[in-house]
Amino acid sequence: MSLRRAVAERAHGRCEYCQCPEAYSSTTYCLEHIEPLAAGGATNLENLAFACQGCNGFKGDKTAIWDVASRQAVRLFHPRRDRWTRHFAWNENGLDMVPKTLVARVTITTLKLNRPALRNLRGILMQSMIHPPA
Ligand SMILES: [Zn+2]
Repeated sequence: MSLRRAVAERAHGRCEYCQCPEAYSSTTYCLEHIEPLAAGGATNLENLAFACQGCNGFKGDKTAIWDVASRQAVRLFHPRRDRWTRHFAWNENGLDMVPKTLVARVTITTLKLNRPALRNLRGILMQSMIHPPA
């Protein structure tokens, strides 16, 4: 099995950040280096996340962000080490990701996880019971 297929299958075909399925995206998803190549991150299953073009682009080579509100560096959500449901939830209409933790708040802001295109797609996918993911 190719590395890409293994990463995609592990993620059930969904971006590991915004949770939108690749099957309903107009672009091919990326194998995102959680720890960037430039920082010594490896190209292997442990360090790769399945990510849509938007989340991949907004994350870039960042792994932590200076949080002005709490005046500290806060790491971003780590798809391999963190459990999505511990950090995030859906709001009552299912369109927005809601943070449960500081890590989640910073990740939502940095990756723009409630950007208009994602909210539109989530709304359409809800009508087909494809969103939110089980
Ligand atoms: Zn995404």
